[in-house]
Amino acid sequence: MSEIVCASCHACFSNGASACPSCQTALIYTGDDANVITTFEPNCLVHRMRGSDRLEPAVLLKEGRTNVKVATRLAEYARPLTVPKSETYTFTPDLLAHIQALRNERTAAVHRYDARIAVYWQSLVPYYDYATHEPHSASPDMPSISLTVTNE
Ligand SMILES: [Zn+2]
Repeated sequence: MSEIVCASCHACFSNGASACPSCQTALIYTGDDANVITTFEPNCLVHRMRGSDRLEPAVLLKEGRTNVKVATRLAEYARPLTVPKSETYTFTPDLLAHIQALRNERTAAVHRYDARIAVYWQSLVPYYDYATHEPHSASPDMPSISLTVTNE
């Protein structure tokens, strides 16, 4: 069952209740008098992690002097996040989509490089023999490794 939010008190609970379990307001689901929030509709972008280029869509709930309270999902209406005003941006879906697409590409590229580096790491031969603690002597059965790096 999906989550909904009481528009009066911002409690979050399962869809289908007839009254808010927190403030007991009778819930109206449709029409002009609807008093439940059933879908997450962001109206701003927030930057929460310093040093990260991750932007999150959020709903601005409360404005303070230097900070705002926002929700990045329905459940956070009840426990909003505090974000500095200076890290809050207008909701611009196009920009967000571009940034997100590039971040996804970067993640995929990093994974590809990690996998290629791991292949070479798996070919490393320990300098010391685990059993004797002596340096490995070069022996004929050592694997010969091709270190041909191809650039894609
Ligand atoms: Zn309520």
